[in-house]
Parts: sequence; structure tokens; C-alpha cells
Amino acid sequence: MASTPATHRIGFVSLGCPKATVDSEHILTQLRAEGYAISPNYDEADLVVINTCGFIDDAIEESLQAIGEALHENGKVIVTGCLGAKGDIVQRSYPNVLAVTGPHATREVMDAIHQQLPPEHDPFIDLVPAQGIRLTPRHYAYLKISEGCNHRCTFCIIPDLRGDLVSRPVNEVLNEAERLVEAGVRELLVISQDTSAYGVDVKYKTEFWNGMPVKTRMTEMCKALGSLGVWVRLHYVYPYPHVDEIIPLMAEGKLLPYLDIPFQHASPRILKAMKRPAASTNTLQRIRAWREICPELTLRSTFIVGFPGETKGDFEQLLDFLDEAQLDRVGCFTYSPVEGARANQLPNPVDEDTKQERLQRFMETQAAISMQRLKRKIGTEQQVLVDAVSESGVIARSTADAPDIDGLVYIEEHAECQPGEFLKVRIDDTDEHDMWGHIIA
Ligand code: SF4
Repeated sequence: MASTPATHRIGFVSLGCPKATVDSEHILTQLRAEGYAISPNYDEADLVVINTCGFIDDAIEESLQAIGEALHENGKVIVTGCLGAKGDIVQRSYPNVLAVTGPHATREVMDAIHQQLPPEHDPFIDLVPAQGIRLTPRHYAYLKISEGCNHRCTFCIIPDLRGDLVSRPVNEVLNEAERLVEAGVRELLVISQDTSAYGVDVKYKTEFWNGMPVKTRMTEMCKALGSLGVWVRLHYVYPYPHVDEIIPLMAEGKLLPYLDIPFQHASPRILKAMKRPAASTNTLQRIRAWREICPELTLRSTFIVGFPGETKGDFEQLLDFLDEAQLDRVGCFTYSPVEGARANQLPNPVDEDTKQERLQRFMETQAAISMQRLKRKIGTEQQVLVDAVSESGVIARSTADAPDIDGLVYIEEHAECQPGEFLKVRIDDTDEHDMWGHIIA
């Protein structure tokens, strides 16, 4: 029978008041939940956590003594609790402690422990696999970086349902990404309500990942994800100025040259009525600049036609934008009132027939653009990721195709390959959504 991995053992010293005791309980509970054992002495411990008190001089003295003893007996010590919040008294007394946090800091303590002793996954004991339970195929996975949204677009009730933006700590996101890659994921799809706003709520807090400081911010997260050696695709990006920073990463091949930007409209009047983020930026100019840096860039977007107050002129402006922007992939919906959305109160609703007629004109305009843009790929070499293999051929996706929403690459030949493998294909034919090609490597 296979042996189970050795369990990491943590020594724990809990000092201070009942509030500190509760903090200790939380940390101990989390340790046990993650499979760490608690060591009754210093000798057998792989490291020691000391929850300190900093209330009065005697308590400070007792805490410092406990830290000194643990360092002497064991050598690896993480300090938490009230003394940790009192300036740099711990670091001055003991510069070789591994980490110091304040009170009520279970997550920070666990992060420090993970860095020293990453949690072991034991397939014989754990109820869930290390990468968690996923509903996507084995070779791609969604990576959710935040929840909620700080905007108040008038057609949307997400902030009412999910609240304001709450970003996940970047080290947590990166650890999850690493686990997914180790479990066989070859494409990470970064999702949120507003990917560009990542970290605003925590003031771009610096966390530590694999011993390196990383800011909780889109560019820094993207750079770190780009080091994992898999496809990284960004969804729901709003064109704030700092989005310019990630285009060179795409040109260098660190991120997929793909941006999913829900523009929703192009008429400044309608964008204002929608209260869209980044509505005032000169989008066309930005797109031109991005394409100069990264000519391979695929732009996907979604739009709403028939928003209350949309005039013929607004709609024509939208069609002109499509012509100029030459987006690659586009979805479009007619405006439909969502219960509770503020846009429902806006004057001059557009009648249903006009909405449908505009939708059709929009789709016809964009279909011709998408078709033309895909046609330029005929004869080019593309890296594709295999989604499915059968007797008659292979279904794959290129860097320009997100799963479920974009097109596919059909390879109508028998090939010895598996889902999740990368292939090189030459493109032979295209339509407005999909491509056909043959394997060259
Ligand atoms: S549509 Fe607007 S309010 Fe709704 S989630 Fe997106 S950015 Fe936030």
C-alpha cells in the first residue's frame, strides 16, 4: 500500500487574554482542517507559532521570553498576536523570526506557514483533490480573482446582489493557479466582474508568493500568472489606463493576446446613461495603440442595443464604431429591463420592433467584420489547444478562442493526441466564427 505523505507538525504557544485564545483556536482549527498535526513539544515540531500578548510590560516580557525559548529550542518561529502589532519590537529583539503578524490574523499566519511548509495533499485521506472540485474539462479552468463590483451601471443589479468589489489576496489566487497547473490545467481563464479593478479595495496590498513580494494588482498578477507556462486569458477587462501595461506581456507571449472588454455601446450619451466605467476614454485610439504593440491581439466584446433613449443617431454611431474598431468577436443583446435596475426608470424606452431591427443590423455589420478578420488567418500557423478528439478528427481552439463563447478550430484528420495537448496547425479555411486547418507539428 502506498504510504501517506509525512504530516507537518506545528508547535503552538498561546499567551494572553480570551480574545487571543479565540485567535489561537481559529489558527489551530485551520491547521487541523488543512491536515497539519499539532506538536506537544518543540523537538518534534517543524515550526512553532507563538500567539503573543502586548498589553502590559509583564505580558510583553513573557511573550518575548517565549519567542526566545522557541527560537533556541526549535529555530523556526512565526509570531502573531498583540505584540506583533506593537511596532517592530519583535523584529528588533529577534530578527530571525520567520514572520510577524498582529492579532486576529489567521489568514496571514496560515500564509506564513504555507510558505515554510506547504500543505500536503493526501489522496487517501482528503475528500477533495488538491485543485478542488471543478466543473470544467481537466485542461482548462476559471480563476476567479474577485467578487462584487464598485460600479453602478444602470442596467445591472450585480452590485445589489453581490456587493462592492472584494479582491482575493493575490497569493491565494496564484497558489490556486499553481495547483490547477500541477493538476493538468493548460489554460487559465481569469474572471471577475471587473478584472481591471483588481486590488483597488485592498489598496493594491503586497502579499508574498513563493517568497517574492507581489502586489494585489492586475499587472503584477498577470506577470506572475504568465510565469506558470500555460495559456492565461483575461475576461471582463475595462479599458482603464493601466490596461496598457499588460499589452506588452501579450506581445511577449506571457499572456494570451486576447482581451474581453464589454464595451456595451459607443455613443457617449448612451454610455453616460449606462454609467459605464471608463466611458470617457478614447477607445478607438487605445485599440489602435494596443494593436501597434501586439498585432495579434484578439478583441472580444459585448453590446446592448435598444437601451432607453437610444436614438437612430446613437445607433449609427455604434455601427460606425464597429467599422472603425474592427473587433474580432462580438456578442449583442437587445436591452431588456432587469427587475430593480435603475435604467428601467429612464425615459424614452425603445420599442421591441426597433430593438430587433437594430440587433439584426448590428449582427450583419459585425458578421462581415468577423468574417474578414478571420479570413486573414488563412495560411497562417497557429498554436491550438485540443478540446476533443474522435476518429474523424480533432476539435481545438486557437489563442483567439475562449471556450464556449468564441469559435473552434476543426482538424479533419485522424491524430494521435489528447485533450489538453498543444498542436501547431496551418489554417486552410475560415468562416465568421470557426477555422479549419491541418496539423503541422
Ligand atoms: S455591468 Fe457595471 S455594475 Fe454590473 S458588474 Fe459590470 S461593471 Fe459592475
